[in-house]
Amino acid sequence: MTNILLVDDRPENLLALEGILEPLHQNLLYAHSGVDALRQLLQHEVAVILLDVQMPELDGFETASLIKQRERTSHVPIIFVTAISKDEEQVFRGYSAGAVDYVFKPFSPEVLRSKVSVFIELHEKNAQLRRQAELLKEQELAELRRESEERYRFLAEAQPDQIWTALPNGKLDYVNQRALDYFAASFSELVEAGWTHVVHPEDLPRMLERWQQALGTGKPYENELRFRRAADGSYRWHLTRAVPMTNRRREVVKWFGSNIDIDDQKRAEEAQRFLVEAGAALGSSLDHRSTLAAVAKLAVPRIADWARVDILEEGRLRTIAVEHVDPRKVELALELGRRYPEDPEAGQGPPFVVRTGESELVTEIAEERLAELAVDDLHLGLVRELGFQSYMCVPLVARGSVIGVISFVAAESGRRFGPEDLALAEELARRTSTAVENAQLYREVEERAQAARVLETVGDGVFLVDREGVVRLWNKAAEAITGVSGNDVLGRRAVDVLPGWDDVGARVPVAGAPGPAVAETLPLELAGRERWLSISGVGFEEGTVYAFRDITEERALERIRQDLVATVSHELRTPLAAIYGSALTLAREDLELEQAMGTKLLEVIVEESSRLADIVNDLLLASQLDAGRLEVHIERCDASVLTKSVVDAASTHVPDGVTLQLEPAGHDLPPVAADEGQLRQVLDNLIDNAFKYSPDGGEVRIRVEPADDYVRFAVSDEGLGIPRPEEARIFEKFYRLDPHMARGIGGTGLGLYIARELVRRMSGRIWVEPNNGRGSVFYVEIPAAPGADTGGKPRETARASA
Ligand code: ADP
Repeated sequence: MTNILLVDDRPENLLALEGILEPLHQNLLYAHSGVDALRQLLQHEVAVILLDVQMPELDGFETASLIKQRERTSHVPIIFVTAISKDEEQVFRGYSAGAVDYVFKPFSPEVLRSKVSVFIELHEKNAQLRRQAELLKEQELAELRRESEERYRFLAEAQPDQIWTALPNGKLDYVNQRALDYFAASFSELVEAGWTHVVHPEDLPRMLERWQQALGTGKPYENELRFRRAADGSYRWHLTRAVPMTNRRREVVKWFGSNIDIDDQKRAEEAQRFLVEAGAALGSSLDHRSTLAAVAKLAVPRIADWARVDILEEGRLRTIAVEHVDPRKVELALELGRRYPEDPEAGQGPPFVVRTGESELVTEIAEERLAELAVDDLHLGLVRELGFQSYMCVPLVARGSVIGVISFVAAESGRRFGPEDLALAEELARRTSTAVENAQLYREVEERAQAARVLETVGDGVFLVDREGVVRLWNKAAEAITGVSGNDVLGRRAVDVLPGWDDVGARVPVAGAPGPAVAETLPLELAGRERWLSISGVGFEEGTVYAFRDITEERALERIRQDLVATVSHELRTPLAAIYGSALTLAREDLELEQAMGTKLLEVIVEESSRLADIVNDLLLASQLDAGRLEVHIERCDASVLTKSVVDAASTHVPDGVTLQLEPAGHDLPPVAADEGQLRQVLDNLIDNAFKYSPDGGEVRIRVEPADDYVRFAVSDEGLGIPRPEEARIFEKFYRLDPHMARGIGGTGLGLYIARELVRRMSGRIWVEPNNGRGSVFYVEIPAAPGADTGGKPRETARASA
């Protein structure tokens, strides 16, 4: 129905018009004023307006001109209905106001109806034309849309990535062939099931959450997901993106999405990260077992579901680490290994890799292969339970030889190892080998350093002569014993730097292996001195190691001991012979002895017996001192009284040609802290020696004087004297300068030893110095008794005793 607007201020006129137009069966709208007409036109679309010219306020012309001014209504035909005048001017005004026609009252209803129906027809034609135009436009648009859709599908199909579109509710409505191929699914299958069946179970919750969020907010969607590749069942990482297409009202009309395979990139990144972490783990320990265990731990689950490390020990592979994503399965795997040990000659797996040094990659463990390899049904069952899918074994190579194998197995994750995985495993094995090698090297260096430290600190001289006879090692003790520095011998031939080595070296017993060595005692001329060395050697592939000790002193002592037996027996025999002879003579009845002779013989017996007793006493005392059983009673003694009484006693047996002199003490002597009997014995001994070793006579002088906190006794003689290098040695047990008594002076070599030990026990010291070119002076210092006024400053440090 078309609207016809009838405008008249008088209702009867409107009624009349209604009557005339009724038969047209159109919708009649009524307005009672110009303003009312304008209002109606705002609300309705009108085919023609019948406008009364004569109206109060806004008359017909004014209303018409307002209608014409409005864009929406400017084209609406207006027929003026008027009775007033037919004069030209009025008519002109009406046309210029936009009228298309005039009807003058009284008008013929037919004429009016036909006029109106022309306009209605025109209006309907126009409306139809408009509708047709719109339809046409829509069709064109649809065509266009179809074309563009086709274009983007072409585009989508040409893409190397998976492309898809989804409805606003998220339901897939298109996937490109690429995606169908990847999932080996038909269009309807994939569109029906969506992604949930092909995404990795671990990634599914994240995918659903984000996709729902995107659908809810209409914001772009992005995610990294693993999609299962139908071809090999492996999951590959994809970057999934979807952007919404919206209409003018900003409503989502479609989602455009893509899945881009980023698996290689992701794995490369992951591998890089993994290797970095592995590097840190490998460097953290120098124990190769814990290093290898750490590698296995690190590899699971990042590279594999299982990792196992075997090490070659004495020609056999030993499993030292097994890791699995599920620790309960580790036990099963170990049990399997125990029950069904791998055949060292096997054509696959760790034994094969160890033998060949080549990596092994099995992308897909075929069921038939499993059955073939299984020893029995139980074995097959166990292996099946572990669900091995794919594996790779890589050798560990250190210093050019295979030391073990790392094996990686894919099981429950469903992944399949490929060449990239093998490359990563090999890289890991390389780094592991280097770490193990480093740890070994470090340990060797440590051991060597340790050995070197030990060698440097042992008391035995150790040196190494290589196969070419060149000295390669010369330890500190060797330097100390021989006086030859390492710098002078190292890198040079032994025969050139060790005089007499060609002869000695040949005589040293060389054992084939370390063990109890048979040592030979040999003399070697070193630094101008003859040293006696107890030397033995051990041969090894690089040469011979010699160990030696300087037994020059021991030998000397041994010699002294031997001499002592001779000396002591001689010392004992002389008085014994005298006693025996005297006693025999006295006992002879056939001999009439003079009174004086008898007395003389008895004196000899007494004298020689006391000498015997002295010797025996010395031996006893020395053994007591050695055993630490001699008791010392330190008390205050008056040094000058003591000295005087010693000198008085000695004066009874001053030999011929010798004079004994006690120098008067120039100072007040403090009392000493000493065992009086022992101090007396020391002084007696020194005076006796002074007498004994002055065979050509001379003066023996005794002097006592204070020395800081000590009292010093000095016994000087003008006798044989003591060579300076021997000054310390004469205090050694049994040491005698003239063991063979070339000068005919006997002795046990115990006197000075006993003297030194006694003085030490009294916290004093004893030493000897030359006596102005002739004879010797023996000094003894004994601490002044506490509280005594020594007249001197206290000594800062006590001088060491001899
Ligand atoms: P001996 O019983 O031989 O005298 P000692 O221990 O008393 O033993 O002395 C050790 C050695 O020191 C003596 O054998 C001697 O060679 C030397 N000796 C000791 N006292 C003197 C001295 N006053 N003058 C020279 N040599 C001495």
